[in-house]
Amino acid sequence: MGANILVAGGAGYIGSHVCKMLKKMGFNVFIYDNLSHGYKFLAKYGEFVLGDVGDRRQLELVLKNYKIDVVMHFCAFIEVGESVQNPRKYYDNNLYNTINLVDTMLDCGVNKLIFSSTAAVYGMPERVPIDEDDKKDPINPYGRTKWMIEQVLKDYSDAHGLRYVAFRYFNAAGADPEGELGEAHDPETHLIPLVLDAALGIRKSIKIFGTDYPTSDGTCIRDYIHVNDLADAHIKGVEYLLNGNPSNYFNLGNGKGFSVREIIDTVKKVTGKDFPVEEVERRPGDPALLIAKSEKAKKVLGWEPKYGIEEIITHAWNWHKKLKGVES
Ligand code: UDP
Repeated sequence: MGANILVAGGAGYIGSHVCKMLKKMGFNVFIYDNLSHGYKFLAKYGEFVLGDVGDRRQLELVLKNYKIDVVMHFCAFIEVGESVQNPRKYYDNNLYNTINLVDTMLDCGVNKLIFSSTAAVYGMPERVPIDEDDKKDPINPYGRTKWMIEQVLKDYSDAHGLRYVAFRYFNAAGADPEGELGEAHDPETHLIPLVLDAALGIRKSIKIFGTDYPTSDGTCIRDYIHVNDLADAHIKGVEYLLNGNPSNYFNLGNGKGFSVREIIDTVKKVTGKDFPVEEVERRPGDPALLIAKSEKAKKVLGWEPKYGIEEIITHAWNWHKKLKGVES
């Protein structure tokens, strides 16, 4: 019998891919989602429970009734710009509701948590690739909520018997290689799906936010990591906790950077489509370079990312056409 896993936010982009992989590995999967940003059609690998991480009574029922062993927590707002405009929304959900979730877990005797953190905890990094112990100095409320929670988790781990793994994702991208799941943000702000919209002609052009960065071609460089590689790390994180290991935190990235122009060129190559590219002002708050050092996850968890940028974009493209109801 596999362990019982509660996937809070299992109807979202990364959570849904994790559910599918958990199921394949023989775990019992329970999806807990309020569907504010997730979709029922993505919640197909696990038993679905409608609920909010801020709802203590509903959480208690689920944790106890399903005898949950490990909680995975993907319920967070992720838009940097919105977090600057409306920090209250972010502190309320990403910070307050997460503390509520962890308190409720501990009160119900559940002490194992996988937490979704982000490269945004590093802010403007002093060097790349970024090591886990490099300075944390988030530059927007979104990154601050994630870093605050990591500190709360550490304190709870030291004092209250919580055991957690925090994963700091770099740029999650790609889609289920079997074409059943993928990204469906509304509104969409991420580069790859927006470029794919331009390839489909749904968007008349793609805008490059800033061409005067101190990088090889003047555009920002990011470390894009396939969502299934992220999912694989989560499975390894669950096993790590179930095997009695101590709390830990890991970067998850490929360790390779691609510029915005390189992403656009790769989309053109993979899709065989051409589309207009506009060069516009920088988007406030974007660091020039974000590249992960993920040696720790490799060493401690035995994780090895499998997918390169062309596969990431190919899988994203296959999903994107399906999502938009367009065959080309
Ligand atoms: N970007 C861009 N045009 C867009 C969307 C994003 O040039 O329409 C750039 C953005 O400035 C950043 C990179 O693409 O340098 C990745 O942005 P995304 O929002 O996908 O992820 P982030 O790195 O902000 O988490």
